[in-house]
Amino acid sequence: MRFVESEHLLTCVHCGLCLASCPTYVVLGTEADSPRGRIHLMRALEEGRREPTPDVIGHLDACLGCRACETACPSGVPYGRLIEAARPWIETHRSRPVRFARRALAVALTSRLGTLPLRLARALPGIEPLARRLKLRWLAYAAALPRPHASDPLPDILEPAGPPRGTAVLLTGCVAGALFDDTNRATAALLRHAGVRVVVPRGQGCCGALGMHLGQGASARRQAKTTAAALDVVGADWVVANAAGCGAMLRDWAHLLPDDPHARAVAAKARDALELLAELGLPAPTRPLARSIAVHDPCHLAHGQGVREPVRALLRSVPGVELRELAESDWCCGSAGTYNLTEPAMAARLAERKLDRIAASGAEVVAAANPGCLLQIRAGALMRGLAVEVAHPIDLLAAAHGVGPATR
Ligand code: SF4
Ligand code: SF4
Repeated sequence: MRFVESEHLLTCVHCGLCLASCPTYVVLGTEADSPRGRIHLMRALEEGRREPTPDVIGHLDACLGCRACETACPSGVPYGRLIEAARPWIETHRSRPVRFARRALAVALTSRLGTLPLRLARALPGIEPLARRLKLRWLAYAAALPRPHASDPLPDILEPAGPPRGTAVLLTGCVAGALFDDTNRATAALLRHAGVRVVVPRGQGCCGALGMHLGQGASARRQAKTTAAALDVVGADWVVANAAGCGAMLRDWAHLLPDDPHARAVAAKARDALELLAELGLPAPTRPLARSIAVHDPCHLAHGQGVREPVRALLRSVPGVELRELAESDWCCGSAGTYNLTEPAMAARLAERKLDRIAASGAEVVAAANPGCLLQIRAGALMRGLAVEVAHPIDLLAAAHGVGPATR
């Protein structure tokens, strides 16, 4: 075996039923950029019939890892696992400078210090018109960052008003912790509002998802191990994530770290915050939101965790909200972990396609339950001059329930 068990590769019967769901195939129209084509390439690599040439690596790098093909596949091909296994192996066939740059990117993105330039750029006066005028996407990403309402750390434990219905451990995340702190606070506030005791463990960091995107298997596993030990709190009923990519990763920890009891325990309790809130139920919202909202389904929520309806059900419960249909709502926006940094041209094409669909929906607000999607869509709308608010559903719900940092 080079990188993956061949029986997993053999589950593909080449029927092609996944092709129409694959964004890169639909945009590029080439078999090698389809799920079937990539499985064929991985099999040829695995069996030593092909070498990892730049061309072959290019087709595998162009994969978003969005797992839309898994949803479409009637044969149950675990495509996400296949590409995840291939990436670290591919990494060993890159040039030394490229390997170094990708390792550095993984470190920068998962550390508070690494996100400092973006946070500093966010404070620049006039950054939005500047990003639009200069057409600099990184500046648009900085401009798209939320402005935090609080600077004090989240308390270790938040008790609900009455007897707790259960205990949830909150994953605050690495990028999300540094850049989307308000959404973490709003998540904790909503869970508390639903009668849940919330524990926010210190010492947690990255779940490993960003490292896995970049093929950094060993360091991603190390990060996941550390975070698993912090999140495996005795007596917890759920481990909750509000970032779709992190939530999908937590659920996959039993596969990533099969010998780690903490990782297995967390994986068994992992839940998306919106899924759990919809299941537990919230009191009636007290503040109407007279807005039309289109829901974008992040890949790792819809395809990775099978969560779609809870988001809509919660938003529908808010008086005044009008949900709008969004065509291709579960198509990748091009963010895809680190894809918008490593494959910027294709990421920009997918962002434009997403913005076309958003504009056609006529919605005033787009709800997206993943930090990467929020930044990608916000930055794209900013560059295009499309007047649409892009918000995490958690933040919209916190406003409707009068809880969380924005309502202080
Ligand atoms: S991945 Fe699934 S849907 Fe796609 S060609 Fe293979 S068996 Fe068919
Ligand atoms: S993960 Fe997404 S981009 Fe990659 S092959 Fe599957 S559908 Fe296509």
